[in-house]
Amino acid sequence: MSDSESDSTTTTAENRFEPATPNVGEKFDPVALHDDTDDFDLRPESDSCYKCSTCDTNCPVAEVDDDFPGPKFQGPEQWRLKEQSDDEDHEIDDSITECSNCMRCDSACPSGVSLSQMHNTARGEYVDDQMSKRSLKYWRNRILANYRTSARIASTLPRLANAAMNFGPARWVMEKTLGVTSEREFPAFATETFREWWQARGGAAASKERAQARRRERGEPVDADKKVAYFHGCYANYNTPEVGQAMVRVYEHFGYEIVVPKQGCSGTPMFANGMLDDARRHADITVSSMSDLIEEGYDAIASCTSCSMALRQEYPELFDIDGIETVASNTFEAVEYLRIHEPLRETVQSADIDGELADEFAYHAPCHARSQGLDRQAVELFGDLDGVGIDDVGDSCSGISGTYGWKEEKYETSMEIGDDMFDHMESAEGDTGLTECPTCAMQMEHGTGYEVRHPLELLEAALVD
Ligand code: SF4
Ligand code: SF4
Repeated sequence: MSDSESDSTTTTAENRFEPATPNVGEKFDPVALHDDTDDFDLRPESDSCYKCSTCDTNCPVAEVDDDFPGPKFQGPEQWRLKEQSDDEDHEIDDSITECSNCMRCDSACPSGVSLSQMHNTARGEYVDDQMSKRSLKYWRNRILANYRTSARIASTLPRLANAAMNFGPARWVMEKTLGVTSEREFPAFATETFREWWQARGGAAASKERAQARRRERGEPVDADKKVAYFHGCYANYNTPEVGQAMVRVYEHFGYEIVVPKQGCSGTPMFANGMLDDARRHADITVSSMSDLIEEGYDAIASCTSCSMALRQEYPELFDIDGIETVASNTFEAVEYLRIHEPLRETVQSADIDGELADEFAYHAPCHARSQGLDRQAVELFGDLDGVGIDDVGDSCSGISGTYGWKEEKYETSMEIGDDMFDHMESAEGDTGLTECPTCAMQMEHGTGYEVRHPLELLEAALVD
């Protein structure tokens, strides 16, 4: 067996994941709730650090880039330096822009220091105070961070946008002028967005009817309190509506009525680029609609693990918005929620798959799934599903981290970080990938040429007629 094979984990009776006590929100209580002003009090975070360097040894960027000082410096050390400096103009070190915001350091810290909160705060300050607003890098980062805006425009003429975005000379110009790598293929925009599909299908009213009909079939009370508000994020809306559609069909299969509220971007690419004002504007929209729905008895679910992470953890760490704690403690990843509230594993065990998705899958757990304790969920769930095989390709980072791997100067680092995952995918059975994160899926596809699917698509194929 090769090294890569030995690191890859195939599901067997011996190593089967037994889910931990389901997370029902407690884990994601805000670390500290701050005014979103310049006066974050991060002293408790800094004081909790006892300099063990565990965060540094778990940082995928530090592992491949000797010049990157690592999370301990970016977080507690830099904060202390700034606090202790007599110089009011003490500057944030430029290397804060090298952190990809994968958040692996957060999970690694034995002392519970919220490193990503410190990094996001420092990065926001760096962009506000030290980055030239006239530089191409600022505008490149701003465009990448505001993917939702570009996607909305491109989706008005998706076929033209798809052709133009991947036209060789245009890609070359984008790399030379803006610094967006020409090595990657732009993801295709769907000809019908998820929201367009949802409206054409009849929206929340039609979902309620379908859910009630399904409850009757299942012998449940027709007025059962099974209601979720779907945060689809930008990617499932503009690029992979099939993931959102799968979520809708799977949830209705279990008798849930769904609403799709007004929402902004989760802010994930904005945090990673220090654009906290942009992220705040989007968070205002989402928190306002989601908190109202939660008060009415809905829970919030997301199909992207970075989106659920943002709503659960980053929002309350960075912003002070009415209802933000309610949203944080009532948001769940879509499969996790079903695992908590339905006999999902038993249902999947008694199902089977044939057709296109009867396949062997190489599963990659995104870093942000790992941070929510969801890294073995898909393997545990699909391990006993007739018609599919699933290999966990290990615990390495995919390396793309949202917009990070799209930057020309970060592309090589991103691919170097992803090397372990590519090797493990290639040594796993089958040649189809599986993951919850759309940008990890891009990296998996880019590094191996594999098609990549979402666990919700597998659930749909297994459970829905
Ligand atoms: S892992 Fe936590 S305690 Fe250890 S150096 Fe990093 S921040 Fe400090
Ligand atoms: S968020 Fe990821 S890249 Fe950034 S310092 Fe932490 S481990 Fe390293």
